[in-house]
Amino acid sequence: MPAFLRDFTSFRLGGLVAAFRDTASPAEAADAIRSWRARAVPFRILGSGTNILASDAGLPGEAVLRFAGGDAFPLAREGDLWTFSAAAALDEVARFAVENAFAGMSALSGIPGTLGGAAAGNAGAYGVSLGDLVAGAEIVESDGTLHKVGADAFAYEYRKSAFQDGTRLLASVTLRLVPSAAGKGERARREEILSERAGKHPILPFARTAGSFFRNLPPETPGGRRRAAGALLDAVGAKSMRAGGAAVFPKHANILIADRGDATAADVATLAEKLRQAVKEKFSVSLVPEVRYWGDFAASSYSTTAR
Ligand SMILES: Cc1cc2nc3c(=O)[nH]c(=O)nc-3n(C[C@H](O)[C@H](O)[C@H](O)COP(=O)(O)OP(=O)(O)OC[C@H]3O[C@@H](n4cnc5c(N)ncnc54)[C@H](O)[C@@H]3O)c2cc1C
Repeated sequence: MPAFLRDFTSFRLGGLVAAFRDTASPAEAADAIRSWRARAVPFRILGSGTNILASDAGLPGEAVLRFAGGDAFPLAREGDLWTFSAAAALDEVARFAVENAFAGMSALSGIPGTLGGAAAGNAGAYGVSLGDLVAGAEIVESDGTLHKVGADAFAYEYRKSAFQDGTRLLASVTLRLVPSAAGKGERARREEILSERAGKHPILPFARTAGSFFRNLPPETPGGRRRAAGALLDAVGAKSMRAGGAAVFPKHANILIADRGDATAADVATLAEKLRQAVKEKFSVSLVPEVRYWGDFAASSYSTTAR
């Protein structure tokens, strides 16, 4: 069945994709992938669509498999290794870990999207990236076969992994969860983070956004902290810039929003390009989007249908 990507992305933008399948079952996903592959239909994996800017023209001739809406109850446990469906919400998995006083996951509280999306993109916050906890996964290869991989298969880097091109499905993800020295203090940390995020981030589904648009910059000295892209964007007056129906979130210069009903994906891409140019002119630094562009964006430096 065709579907509009705007119905499945947090920007609520994006045109028609020729074929769309929505499931949280690895077997059904593998079936869909095999059948697309047999007909040479290119396909992509979608989670909750909270890190994607999908083109107004959609993805003609392509297929999308949405893998979301799964339960956060653990599928299996072996010692410190806990396996969850990749279709579970990351925040629900974080809640599980916090309730059981495990270390690390409280920092990821409130990040929207699925565990699979977070594992593919190495999502993170407050100094923790999900990849720090990933011990392995069960994947559906692009030919529809299922098998297990270890953490090394992810080749993790900052907000990056070998699974990010969206052609191999993470069906389940195994996390190494160890008791936290803070014990029940993880719960207080989670509450603190949730309220801090509610104060400075736009809230889904009221805002149309994909969170931070550009990656933070590498540290200037080895082992140093990453430089916030938001600071450079603030310095070029990003918060007063817009393009058509797209604007910058007033509380955070690195968050782009579709703030008018007539906003298009092209508006967001145009605004991103304006911001990138302004930072390049002032600081000679090229910002790189963290958000994934899907489809054709004629006006953007990321105007590519490649993934
Ligand atoms: C308000 C807001 C705040 C945010 N805050 C943060 C933050 O603090 N830190 C952060 O890192 N991000 C943040 N994000 C971005 C986003 O939430 C994360 O990147 C999230 O992990 C994306 O998950 P998703 O399921 O929505 O993935 P999608 O957006 O659906 O997909 C993202 C990428 O992952 C791939 N993918 C998705 N699921 C799978 C799967 N099962 N198997 C293989 N590949 C898959 C897709 O192909 C695509 O390339 C924020 C977004 C919003 C809207």
